[in-house]
Amino acid sequence: MGSPLGVVMVQLIQREIETLREACAGRVVTSHDSDFHVMRTVWNGAVDRHPAVIVRCSGPEDVSAAVRFAHEEGLELSVRGGGHSFSGAAVTSGGLMLDLSALRLVEVDPEGRRAVCGGGATWADVDGATQAYGLATPGGTISHTGIGGLTLGGGFGWLTRGHGLTADNLEAAEVVLSTGERVRASQEDHPDLYWAIRGGGGNFGVVTSFTYRLHPVGPAVQVAMLFWEAERGCEAVGLIHDVVANLPDDFGALIGFGMSAPPAPFVPEQHRFRPGHALILAGFGAPERHEAVLSRLRAALEPLFEFVSPMPYTQLQSMLDESAPWGILAYEKALDLPTITPEAADTLCDQAALKGSPMSFMPSFHLGGAFSEVSDDATAFGGSRQPHYTISIAAITPDPGALSAERDWARAAWEAMQPYGMGSGTYVNFIADPDEDRVRASYGPRKYERLSAIKRTYDPGNLFHLNANIRP
Ligand code: FAD
Repeated sequence: MGSPLGVVMVQLIQREIETLREACAGRVVTSHDSDFHVMRTVWNGAVDRHPAVIVRCSGPEDVSAAVRFAHEEGLELSVRGGGHSFSGAAVTSGGLMLDLSALRLVEVDPEGRRAVCGGGATWADVDGATQAYGLATPGGTISHTGIGGLTLGGGFGWLTRGHGLTADNLEAAEVVLSTGERVRASQEDHPDLYWAIRGGGGNFGVVTSFTYRLHPVGPAVQVAMLFWEAERGCEAVGLIHDVVANLPDDFGALIGFGMSAPPAPFVPEQHRFRPGHALILAGFGAPERHEAVLSRLRAALEPLFEFVSPMPYTQLQSMLDESAPWGILAYEKALDLPTITPEAADTLCDQAALKGSPMSFMPSFHLGGAFSEVSDDATAFGGSRQPHYTISIAAITPDPGALSAERDWARAAWEAMQPYGMGSGTYVNFIADPDEDRVRASYGPRKYERLSAIKRTYDPGNLFHLNANIRP
């Protein structure tokens, strides 16, 4: 048995665990339980930590009890929403892992266009429930991602050009503070906390429920994926930039720079795994508007292959799930670019060519439209509201022997792209190893100081520190 478990069991004696069990209606799990090793895993298979105890909360009361217990016993606390962060911050070594995965009830008010969602829900839960009424709120692009971490860091996806960040659509949240006290955060209640949790991450408390504004979406949306091989990379990147930076707001786009062609039925066999660049477009308006953009792309540079089809919005939301399966080994660096100049495109293509794993690529979003209509100070979102690209450099492999080289590739590509970037800060949810300098750079000095003051009010002891941490 590894050392973390040994230390843990000495520290946390049976009597204390029993006290915790009595205080919680949900399960309290230790290494003695047969499913401990399943419950401690997170999406990133490269993360292998042993908490002393896992509390699978059955409601906000359990969350309060577990937070108090961690505080009183001096245990490090980690909060697991969907367990989907690259950093693996949802699982502590030797502390208490607060598991929200049972809190996934979604209640939809179709007339009021609101949804109240459990703090451990995934986007599949939320989209499934809201689409039953033809409604949705902007969410992530992989359906098994948790709404918790994604919303608290900002959150963007297909609907962001039209309706802003996920956090821009957050109307209220129920929050358990570091004292175990339960409060509501909204424009009227604890407005400072409400501001901070819309971008400031999990620094201020545990959110047991999120209330989102909903918008009519779909149910059918127009979807296209166009792929150009690496040999025509620079031309393709230039074209993608021209189109994406000027897209109308009823489109969503995800760019797969450096992506390998998937082994999907629509990809001719001879092109499968071929490296190149992909543009995936989701059109929420009339099919003719979607077709007009595709025609322009084809006329400018005929893709190597394409996939075009209407599909239900929920299918779009899970279409990329296989590119990021649970348990895969992963690492990520990210940077923001104001635009893609020809020099940046050259560097991007050169760096993409150096990846080793076919699964590694640079998933990128051009943020603009409704996203840019919200003022910088309206929320704590760590990044500019000016239209820009957020480029994630995602090292992904199933092979433990290849991870280190893929990590080095992501780091080197990030360094090479720096001259074209907007500084070392970026979207906090895309930082696999958030150090203080990068977190400060992401928020900028003024926002960081404001967040830090709010942290002093709500979590002066920094109990919630396994995240892109704001120092109190
Ligand atoms: P977890 O690992 O469970 O949590 C991460 C951190 O969030 C925790 O440490 C905790 O501090 C905090 N947290 C989580 N839930 C709560 C809660 N209820 N209360 C308080 N704190 C909480 N982001 C996008 O914006 N758009 C995307 O399209 C997108 N795609 C992604 C695809 C992949 C494959 C991956 C790995 C990530 C993607 N992300 C995307 C990033 C994503 O936003 C973050 O990884 C986010 O942290 C995931 O949330 P989670 O709840 O699943 O994570």
